[in-house]
Amino acid sequence: MPLTLTVLGTSSPHPAPGRPCSGYLLSGGGAEVWVDAGPGTFAALQRHTDPARLTAIWISHLHADHSADLLSAAYAFAFGGMPPPAPIPVYAPQDCARRLAGFFGRADVEFLEGVFDFRDLYDGHDVRHWNLRLTARAVAHGTEAYGLRAECQGSVLAYSGDSGPCPALTALASRADLFLCEADIDAHHGGEPSQQVHLTPEDAGRIARDARVRELLVTHVGPTLTREAATARAAAVSGRPTYMAAEGGTVTI
Ligand SMILES: [Zn+2]
Repeated sequence: MPLTLTVLGTSSPHPAPGRPCSGYLLSGGGAEVWVDAGPGTFAALQRHTDPARLTAIWISHLHADHSADLLSAAYAFAFGGMPPPAPIPVYAPQDCARRLAGFFGRADVEFLEGVFDFRDLYDGHDVRHWNLRLTARAVAHGTEAYGLRAECQGSVLAYSGDSGPCPALTALASRADLFLCEADIDAHHGGEPSQQVHLTPEDAGRIARDARVRELLVTHVGPTLTREAATARAAAVSGRPTYMAAEGGTVTI
């Protein structure tokens, strides 16, 4: 089975009608991985799979627009008649379980263990998940945040998560077949490069070019841009096929 990416949501920083925040379904090698759980994506996920069939959840960082629907999933799995056959591995930054428990007003996290199996990410985290290899690299976002490299039988997806320009992001994307990359902001407004926590479309295009990816898929475009404009601007720099991520779209990698 080839590696496929289904776009569940791309919006930043809040969901819009028909447009959830960040979330993707990655399928291949026997695995089905929900990558980022932005608000609205749990509903969108159900258009494409039975959530109880998920083999893992992978969360790039704990900003709400990438993680808040873990709460929806917890309700579905614990109370909604959708119990998974075994606790679903959740690869996420540390503290994810405690924060989720906080939504339930609980200080303990053990009550979540029946549905989720939390596993902390770290820079260089590398796991063989079914026949997928999932590698995390720490990226520059002003909080604990990771990009993802997923490999399956020679096909490579790289995903920026949320990140400013940084060497780790370029390395993560090296020669990927598909680079799913944020282009959240219109411009950097001052500050040191080390303080930049998002990408402009030109940054996304430049990283795609420098990393020699095969194709670029532009996502997570913020309110100061249109996603059509962001994609065109990224394409002008990337020098490779560049597309706009849209809800419901599926790409075979
Ligand atoms: Zn973020």
